[in-house]
Amino acid sequence: MNNILTIFKEKDIRATTQRLEVYKALRDENKHLTVEQIYGKIRVNNPSISLATVYSVLEILKRKGLVKEIRIEFNKSFFETRIDAHHHFLCKKCQKTFDIDMHHCRVLTEQNVNGFQIEDFQGYFYGVCNKCKK
Ligand SMILES: [Zn+2]
Ligand SMILES: [Zn+2]
Repeated sequence: MNNILTIFKEKDIRATTQRLEVYKALRDENKHLTVEQIYGKIRVNNPSISLATVYSVLEILKRKGLVKEIRIEFNKSFFETRIDAHHHFLCKKCQKTFDIDMHHCRVLTEQNVNGFQIEDFQGYFYGVCNKCKK
């Protein structure tokens, strides 16, 4: 928990118990989770937390740059604590979302296009994952 407190301090976020719990649940899982999945994890030890609280905590963490929201599916948001630039892949068979690192990807280093200053981006790729291909 100590190093989470440091991360919060660096980003100038007040470390309330609920914020710490949400961030920790997401980081420990090290995956892309929906709000409901995060809520389900936290509720085990914090039965009093509400889904609305998890939503608002995620909104704050996102605004402060501590979590990323992934909208690879039309009607669903996923969240993760990996905040460096990377793309995502959705497998149409198992419906899992994967991180994909494309080190040769030009987009990753592009900071200015036709005068537009790029601060963030996400590439969404769709297909069949390695496991489902077999
Ligand atoms: Zn798959
Ligand atoms: Zn990711």
